[in-house]
Amino acid sequence: MNEQSTETVSLDQAKVGRLSRMDALQQQAMAQANRAQHQQRLRNVQLALTAIEEQSYGFCEECGEDIPIARLEASPESIYCINCKNRLEQNEPL
Ligand SMILES: [Zn+2]
Repeated sequence: MNEQSTETVSLDQAKVGRLSRMDALQQQAMAQANRAQHQQRLRNVQLALTAIEEQSYGFCEECGEDIPIARLEASPESIYCINCKNRLEQNEPL
């Protein structure tokens, strides 16, 4: 893991290259986070569709309480009430 110390650092181009690489890594990380978020949302949509089939749509999967209609209108894929969602997100960030 001593690669960096042997790299030529005096060339401007090397610095630029490293910056670009950091940019690329950051963009990749953002794209991955974005994709993970979309995959999570797609899973939620599929779960919501299953809930509709099972006639449990509109009830929180976690506590069984009604999910407020305003929340369902804002994000129809919601399968948790806002309290459970917040709690679950704290345990496992999306
Ligand atoms: Zn709940």
